[in-house]
Amino acid sequence: MELDIVSAETLMESPYDGNVANLLERAVAEHPDTIAIEHAGETITYRDFGDRVARFADGLRELGLAAGDRVGVYMPNGIDFCTAVWACCHAGIIASPLNPEYRRREIEYQLDHADAEAVLVEGSADEYVREAVADLETEIVSATAGSDHPSLPELGTDAEAALVDREDEDVLLQPYTSGTTGKPKGVLLTHRNFRVQIAQAVSSYSASPIKGDGIIVLPMYHITGMIGMMASLCAGRTLHLLRPDQWDPELVLRKLDEHDIPSFVGVAAMFVDLLEAYDPDEYDLSTLVRAGQGGDKLPRPTREGFEEALDVPLTEGYGLTETTATSHTIRWSSLGNRPGSVGQPVGHTRSKVVDEDGEEVDPGEEGEILIAGSQVMKGYYKNPEANEEVFTEDGFFRTGDIGTRDEDNYYYIKGREKEMILTGGYNVYPREIEDLLYDHPEIHEAAVFGVPDERRGETVAAAITPAEGAEITADDVEAYVLDELAPYKHPRIVEIRSELPKTGSGKIRKTKLRDEIADERGLE
Ligand code: AMP
Repeated sequence: MELDIVSAETLMESPYDGNVANLLERAVAEHPDTIAIEHAGETITYRDFGDRVARFADGLRELGLAAGDRVGVYMPNGIDFCTAVWACCHAGIIASPLNPEYRRREIEYQLDHADAEAVLVEGSADEYVREAVADLETEIVSATAGSDHPSLPELGTDAEAALVDREDEDVLLQPYTSGTTGKPKGVLLTHRNFRVQIAQAVSSYSASPIKGDGIIVLPMYHITGMIGMMASLCAGRTLHLLRPDQWDPELVLRKLDEHDIPSFVGVAAMFVDLLEAYDPDEYDLSTLVRAGQGGDKLPRPTREGFEEALDVPLTEGYGLTETTATSHTIRWSSLGNRPGSVGQPVGHTRSKVVDEDGEEVDPGEEGEILIAGSQVMKGYYKNPEANEEVFTEDGFFRTGDIGTRDEDNYYYIKGREKEMILTGGYNVYPREIEDLLYDHPEIHEAAVFGVPDERRGETVAAAITPAEGAEITADDVEAYVLDELAPYKHPRIVEIRSELPKTGSGKIRKTKLRDEIADERGLE
């Protein structure tokens, strides 16, 4: 379907500043009969969605919640999740989304740290949430009528409930970072952060042949899925939702085909599965014009295989929760120009690469990537030490990621500073070794990390999963790297596994692997 979507310029214009929920109201007014969301066969039009959001917002107020209060949102991808987040936004309440796969300790930590007055769930809360709130003041509230808890559809009656005014600097969302090191931190993202990022996402649709329906498979509690959902609804598109825990590449291919969906965003592992499941005789993907990947590195063979089989560019983007998702991307006009690059800083964003003294380095030289601009978070919640550490005096956010940029300001990610392995005085960046491992035809997935070593401080370890039907051994891997890398970079520990542990958003959990291997081998 050709849809005349709202332009990015319009989204940035007054009177759409202040509360971001203004942008949704505009889409509702302009596209009342368009389907806003489809999930598992259920659909809702923009008109009904707008009413439901206002009623839920009214329900939140009935509960005694006011602008500036915080609530947890512990729900899987679905229409209720979208309604709950937009209702919080409408009422000026700060939503803190939780991974729906979290268990008691993780839920309790986040709700407690966020000072959540309530936690919104679908249906009746599971035992994890009930146990998590046992020692907290947090009330369980359901998005579903007829549950064991007070419910928003029963409490909220006013579909005309007025939108609460918000300033640009007021916080809209408080997600927690994946926390692979240290305790998860609450990221304060403002209405301005969101408006800018939504406008950027929308301008990437309008600068391209991307018109028509959207699809989200990534978890929406994570910032990339969240922005995808919000931008789609602000632009008046129809959004098809899937749940990442029910990942089914054939279903995705069917949806892309049936709804003529022009673009798809996923993590690297998804593209491997889509490629395997793709059959050109079965699926007509001629309307697909672009696929995007972010959040983790995209192995070259995956990109090349996907691009060749589907004849669509698969581009890599970069960003963090702290930058309200994407900070760097390949522009539509320069597709295919710089394979392996995550692209250039997006609009309203500045970036640089600096050395340990904070001095900018020359193009081609490695350093830490810094970002400044309207989409960078306000700071971490109740964490002055971390704020002190991550913001420079000249207002840049320190990403902790190591990369380079070229003469044309295209960025390349080399690894995370925190992931850097220090072995016998040498700095080793895992990405370089992972890239090599991914090039091996018998390796499906690879993760490289440091494990404690008495003599060298750390030693390089690798965990891999073999490609289907392959019988690669640890000795084979060691022989393979022998001639390719300086000896200090050779993984001295190689583990072959049937699968690697992943976070909810699909990233390999290296800290878990590191701890397991250190435990098994008695390394300290
Ligand atoms: P999160 O806050 O969960 O989105 O994680 C952000 C982190 O993901 C960044 O600091 C990077 O380490 C990593 N990341 C994001 N995009 C990429 C990419 N294209 N390549 C490599 N790492 C990435």
